[in-house]
Amino acid sequence: MEYICESCGTLLIHSNQITLDSMKDVHDQLCSVKRQNIATPIPQAPQKAIPNAQPSLSNTQSPSQATSSPSSQQSTTAASSPGGQTTISLTGNGTSYSKIEGPIDPEFKTKRQVTGSFQGIKVWGPVDAPGQLGIWGTEVTVDFDICVADGACIEACPVNVYEWLDTPGHPASEKKPFMIREKDCIFCMACENVCPPQCVKIFQKGQ
Ligand code: SF4
Ligand code: SF4
Repeated sequence: MEYICESCGTLLIHSNQITLDSMKDVHDQLCSVKRQNIATPIPQAPQKAIPNAQPSLSNTQSPSQATSSPSSQQSTTAASSPGGQTTISLTGNGTSYSKIEGPIDPEFKTKRQVTGSFQGIKVWGPVDAPGQLGIWGTEVTVDFDICVADGACIEACPVNVYEWLDTPGHPASEKKPFMIREKDCIFCMACENVCPPQCVKIFQKGQ
């Protein structure tokens, strides 16, 4: 007489039916395949969609999430919005290339609009990264489309307002003096005076 386990296929053979039944009982208790099948949960039916569920907000991103280190990474969001709340991108597929001669237009605040900001620093458009970056800053302003990155302003500043910001792909220079600490400016005018192409303009507070 024989018994074949329906779960694992093990063949049990014995001439005595009672003994074979005992062997079967022992095997059923030890059969790993049978125990695994018992432990496997029954798949749940998919849940029906809940009416009036809120839509996904996957496109929502706060400015702080889009902001990144100036020396290593740049954000990839560049869409503009009124009020300059958008984080400016230094990378992109822009086709405008702006390499212009100085000096900076001292009247630019009446002619341009704030397109966005980068780590809290205002950026006055037009901006079409990577080749056109506009004018950056509020009191300490630099026309990035003129700047040739000789570093004179960074060396001249006694209070370390600037740090280098990589701007790969810009035709005038691939790094710019980022006025990240413009709130520390003491209005000594040193940077404005030393800039060879005259692309720096310092505004006293309220100007
Ligand atoms: S005006 Fe003077 S303190 Fe202000 S950013 Fe220029 S060099 Fe620095
Ligand atoms: S001095 Fe003028 S050209 Fe030189 S890095 Fe500063 S802003 Fe650019």
